[in-house]
Amino acid sequence: MAGAETYVIVGANLAGGRAAEALRARGFAGRIVLVGEEPDRPYERPPLSKGYLQGAYPEEKLFLRPQSYYDEYAIELRLGVRATGLEPAERSVALASGERLRYDKLLIATGTQARRLDVPGGDLEGVYALRTLRDARRLAAALQQAQRVVVVGAGFIGLEVAASARVRGCAVTVLEAAAVPLAHAVGAELGQVCAAIHRDHGVDLRVSCAVQGFRGSERVEQVVLADSTAIACDIVVVGVGVTPAVAWLAGSGIALENGVLVNEYTETSLPDVYAAGDVANWWHPRWGQRLRVEHYDNAQHQGLAAARTMLGEREPYAPVPYFWSDQYDLTLQYVGYAPGSDRMVVRGSVAARSFTAFSLRGDRVRAAFSLGRPRELMAARQLIRAQKPVDAAVLADEGVELRTLAR
Ligand SMILES: Cc1cc2nc3c(=O)[nH]c(=O)nc-3n(C[C@H](O)[C@H](O)[C@H](O)COP(=O)(O)OP(=O)(O)OC[C@H]3O[C@@H](n4cnc5c(N)ncnc54)[C@H](O)[C@@H]3O)c2cc1C
Repeated sequence: MAGAETYVIVGANLAGGRAAEALRARGFAGRIVLVGEEPDRPYERPPLSKGYLQGAYPEEKLFLRPQSYYDEYAIELRLGVRATGLEPAERSVALASGERLRYDKLLIATGTQARRLDVPGGDLEGVYALRTLRDARRLAAALQQAQRVVVVGAGFIGLEVAASARVRGCAVTVLEAAAVPLAHAVGAELGQVCAAIHRDHGVDLRVSCAVQGFRGSERVEQVVLADSTAIACDIVVVGVGVTPAVAWLAGSGIALENGVLVNEYTETSLPDVYAAGDVANWWHPRWGQRLRVEHYDNAQHQGLAAARTMLGEREPYAPVPYFWSDQYDLTLQYVGYAPGSDRMVVRGSVAARSFTAFSLRGDRVRAAFSLGRPRELMAARQLIRAQKPVDAAVLADEGVELRTLAR
């Protein structure tokens, strides 16, 4: 009987937190245990690299829910404790505390962890990563003292940190290994636009460069490149990507490949075990391929989708992925999945930094990137969902309401 069952969720952040909420909202009356390695209750990471780092976003606003919510809805928070193993035959999760938690159903929502830069001096004082609230507290404090900041990696987190450090008045150097920042995420042309935005804001953005190591006696003082260039700094922020947090699942027999493999219902290869959020490598039924998305919107909605499946509903999870990034006073938004597209159509002005760029395959829109045009982006999402043929000239014509094309 459902009321007597225990649902365990490992990973107490966005996907896990939203799944717990949805289980209760949909009437699950059994026990819900939310296990998290971090000491903080579920919170939102996006402000960490933006307003929070700039001192403009209070910590209390980060949390998904007040503590009283978890008390009222009897969601047991087990925080500050790591899950160390999964034993499917016993239907139990082992915790670092030595405890074993029995589950009737288990949701894996352990997300990702920041990749470390394995170079000499990588663990010097003054070298930071940014994934957790704890990281952000330390980095925000360091930024108050720092004048010269070097960011390694021009991905979204690195560029947002660079923008925040500029807003705080620091001199900022960004070092990127690729020739164009963000090319893997938004394509080379749009990556160049992002690079130009940072250069216009005074960031010394260097591409195609390899970090050889960090130097300093007591704390980091220089970043050394492969060509022996040394860049003086007060702090370094490393943002070189993330890896799925799956080490604790070793030996459990669960199918792993670039995260936890799940189908369109968030079901893993093990009975009554589900996965959602950044850790889940899922089958997208509409696009006929696997995706692992490292963005807020997916974590939140896939957490809800997992809760629905756990409660016996059978609705495939097939969204059009979406993410955004705030840098300076600009919001970049992206919707869809561009790989496989064969041309780009721009509506608006790239030079004026107010445009939407559509990636098409034949006459269908697969993805869209917009700068400062949120309404267009939402209409583009409808277009991608509808997969109706569109005329490139009409798409580029600002006199035509985009929403009408999806109808
Ligand atoms: C600084 C920052 C800014 C971001 N900004 C944006 C943005 O602007 N737009 C956007 O779309 N996305 C953004 N993101 C991405 C977004 O925050 C993530 O996609 C989202 O947090 C993923 O949620 P999740 O619950 O799947 O994983 P996570 O948020 O990573 O949560 C997983 C939780 O599981 C815990 N855990 C891991 N292993 C274990 C274990 N063995 N036992 C117990 N607990 C464990 C972790 O400690 C963590 O708390 C940002 C991310 C960061 C870090």
